[in-house]
Amino acid sequence: MRCLKLEVVKDLKYKFPLPRPVLVTCGLPYVNGPCHIAHLRTYVPADIFIRFLRKLGQQVVFICGSDTHGTPILVKAEAEGLTPQEVVKKYHKHFVELFPRLGIDFDNYGSTDDPLNHNRTKEIILQLLKNGYIYGKQLKLPYCPTCNRFLPDRYQKGTCPYCGAIARGDECDQGCGRYLEPGELLDPRCVICGTKPEMRETRHYFMKLTAFEEFLREYLKQMDGTENARNYALQWLEKGLRDWNITRNLDWGVEFPGEPNLVLYVWVDAPIGYISSTEEWAMKKNGDWEYFWKGSGYLIHFIGGDIIYHHCLFWPSMLKGAGYNLPYAVVASGMVRVEGHKFSKSRGYVLWVKEDYLDKGLDPDALRYYIASYTGHTRDLDFSWSSFGEKLNKELVGTLGNFLYRTILFAKKNYGHVPQGEVEPDVVAEVEAVIREIREGLDIYEFKKISDAILSLAAFGNKYLQENEPWRLVKTDPNRARQVTYNCLWIAKALQILIEPIMPEKADKLHKQLFGRVERNKLLSEVLKPLETGIKLGDPKPLFKQISEEEIEELSRITLERVSTAKG
Ligand SMILES: [Zn+2]
Ligand SMILES: [Zn+2]
Repeated sequence: MRCLKLEVVKDLKYKFPLPRPVLVTCGLPYVNGPCHIAHLRTYVPADIFIRFLRKLGQQVVFICGSDTHGTPILVKAEAEGLTPQEVVKKYHKHFVELFPRLGIDFDNYGSTDDPLNHNRTKEIILQLLKNGYIYGKQLKLPYCPTCNRFLPDRYQKGTCPYCGAIARGDECDQGCGRYLEPGELLDPRCVICGTKPEMRETRHYFMKLTAFEEFLREYLKQMDGTENARNYALQWLEKGLRDWNITRNLDWGVEFPGEPNLVLYVWVDAPIGYISSTEEWAMKKNGDWEYFWKGSGYLIHFIGGDIIYHHCLFWPSMLKGAGYNLPYAVVASGMVRVEGHKFSKSRGYVLWVKEDYLDKGLDPDALRYYIASYTGHTRDLDFSWSSFGEKLNKELVGTLGNFLYRTILFAKKNYGHVPQGEVEPDVVAEVEAVIREIREGLDIYEFKKISDAILSLAAFGNKYLQENEPWRLVKTDPNRARQVTYNCLWIAKALQILIEPIMPEKADKLHKQLFGRVERNKLLSEVLKPLETGIKLGDPKPLFKQISEEEIEELSRITLERVSTAKG
């Protein structure tokens, strides 16, 4: 990756930019269905994060891809009469088409069923075998005599041995949330035919997770990211780890080397998808994937709070055992609730991003802003149409949009261009404080702090405009009127740069209104620079559209109707 190896100038007060290039990944969407709001809980903040890093001059590669293996895709395929390949193809395409509509801009979006990922996974497994971290063992596992097959993971339902809740074969998803090892589930039943399975002997492979306890204890202490990731992982570690069964009796997945009847558990090849997607990026863009995975680059993983176990225990052990770099940080988001209820596709508490939002003509940037600003990154986000409407109408239309529109409209009408003026010290101090808030927010991965700071600058702009009343001054004190207008336009210029990572489409529109053309990716250091006088202003237009009570009611009605007709 030739051009990426430049070292950046470090500001010692802040963590970011890091001294060397960064690779940021997002938890891979599992492609057994369309994109929903819980996906965006991770992808939107990650996209905002990398856009801000770039504004700091940080060189960043942003990687994601489709997670394609495992039993939920097989169960879905059986239910729809499709092959697993057809299910994967359908939803992979859906995600590839959807991300750009939301301004989520990956440098590469791969797939864990790509030959690159099969090969990288085999290479890592062979490395772990060679280093003595994988061993084989005979096991008795549930086998359905009616369907004539073993019942891995979601092919069985039963009772969680820890909390007694109804659970799937690999996860207590409705109860305590624990990862369950094959054979642990009590009273299992085949999900396809309901038969009580019999136990049959079969050979499986295990990763010696217990050999990594000491290493993980040390590693987790210094791992950067959000506290929830570190603390959960340390709590699990306290309870002691068990060796991890990494194979399944299936024919959909990455084959275990030398065992044609076994594939690897999906949680082995899914995170390796981060590496193979980086390899694909490197091939396409003439980059160097090893710089990040084996060299001195930094790795940062953005994930949902439900997959901390996999990213903070399994994944670092696999990387360490196979001789790869360890993640610098794991940033775990809080979970999602919909209209006050735990997010659930089967119960209808879901927001389908395409069907319920984008296809209704709603504003992608407003949803990005809502996700960033609704609550702290590690807290639960409770999506409701009424809170969405309130944030859109009050904050985006009423505060941000209002300030920008009034400013540009007044300046355009009275001068047509940026008038002569100088930035006032109070205004500079305000913007400097906002930049500090943003940088502190980035350092602790707190996107609400960042979006609140930006909104506070718009509120300051409104107040400045209101107090100075340039529409009066223009008749009584034209020099002062020009000065006030210049300051408002200077704040608008600052906002144009600052909103870009959160609302990229609106930043383009605002740039056009201010400068008559679109220009992207201005550095954060440009925010405090003077605004050139004499620049011809573009046409002022409101950036945001108010959403009416009736629209909100209609959208809420659709969500609640889905809940009342849901199966689950
Ligand atoms: Zn069966
Ligand atoms: Zn449980």
